[in-house]
Amino acid sequence: MTLVLSVDPAAPDPDVIARAAEALRSGGLVAFPTETVYGLGANALDTRAVARIFAAKGRPAYDPLIVHLARAEDAALVAREVPEVARRLWSRFAPGPLTLILPKHPRVPARVTAGRDTVAVRIPSHPVARALIEAAGVPVAAPSANRFGHVSPTTAAHVLEDLAGVVDVVLDAGPTPVGVESTILDVSREPPVLLRPGGVPREALEAVLGHPVRIATASTPEGEPAPAPGTLPRHYAPRVPLWLFDGPPDWARTMMRETAHVLLAQGEQVAALVPAEDAAALRDLGMQLFPLGPSEDLAHMAARLFEGLRTLESQGATVILARTVPNQGLGLAINDRLRRAATHVLRAAARL
Ligand code: AMP
Ligand code: MG
Repeated sequence: MTLVLSVDPAAPDPDVIARAAEALRSGGLVAFPTETVYGLGANALDTRAVARIFAAKGRPAYDPLIVHLARAEDAALVAREVPEVARRLWSRFAPGPLTLILPKHPRVPARVTAGRDTVAVRIPSHPVARALIEAAGVPVAAPSANRFGHVSPTTAAHVLEDLAGVVDVVLDAGPTPVGVESTILDVSREPPVLLRPGGVPREALEAVLGHPVRIATASTPEGEPAPAPGTLPRHYAPRVPLWLFDGPPDWARTMMRETAHVLLAQGEQVAALVPAEDAAALRDLGMQLFPLGPSEDLAHMAARLFEGLRTLESQGATVILARTVPNQGLGLAINDRLRRAATHVLRAAARL
């Protein structure tokens, strides 16, 4: 049985939080909003509770979890060592959508980190997440609250679509504001490496670090037990094919029109997930459109991205069309999620 509790996102009721915190302390699974997406939480120090996360999601045991803390000063609970660079980054970005990879403390069960000697740590800023972790009094391991490989949930309804009956409590505080997952930066290596673009833009990290940040390639790093599936090629994906047009806006719009024509003629239920300015240009084709907001407002686009994928999928689209945006700021995270969601990627030929 899943208990769904509504809670005010800005001022969560302490009684509701206490109930969810008790479920966490007694080994239960609690889905809760963070500023990025909804998380599926369990007591990170309770191996059996952590095992339930993997079972509920159908997540492979080699994919490690992020541990959530109420404040950066608690990092020593789960990390053997907190490098100076981590303190510097957190003084700017905590609480917020930045996950740091740190040397693991022996207290953290191997199950959480998939046998790695490092642990992923984040201090979320969402008032409900903060209140819950604080009230539980334990570090909270929480991946996104979706079935493994599916689109991450940005509403409680999304959580229930994937996990009704297998999660004990869902805290419903409405849509999550950032809408894409946290940025993951590995500061256990020197220099730090970006493992996943997310809610904190790469440029913002570079401004604090004072040097360019390299993005990890999808291949398994040497000496690591297995790939980290945030980096798997197909992930965050809807259950229907997604064609991604990866190139300049004019090219992408033209190609999308031509492709939609062909697919519609074949009887497909074609839908498109596009910046607001493209929606007007595509409306005459009669396909379903999900406008993500104007492309100059990447934060708005990011916040609507997963909602769009899930909406089009649940409304019966048999193929979804989308295009990339400029690779700046949150555009890096948006494009990363679109590429991993895609079954077909069409790239513009390089121009001479
Ligand atoms: P999710 O919470 O579902 O967004 O997934 C968490 C992601 O964090 C995983 O896909 C991993 O890529 C990453 N992660 C967690 N722990 C580690 C770690 N110790 N080293 C590298 N990546 C990690
Ligand atoms: Mg996930």
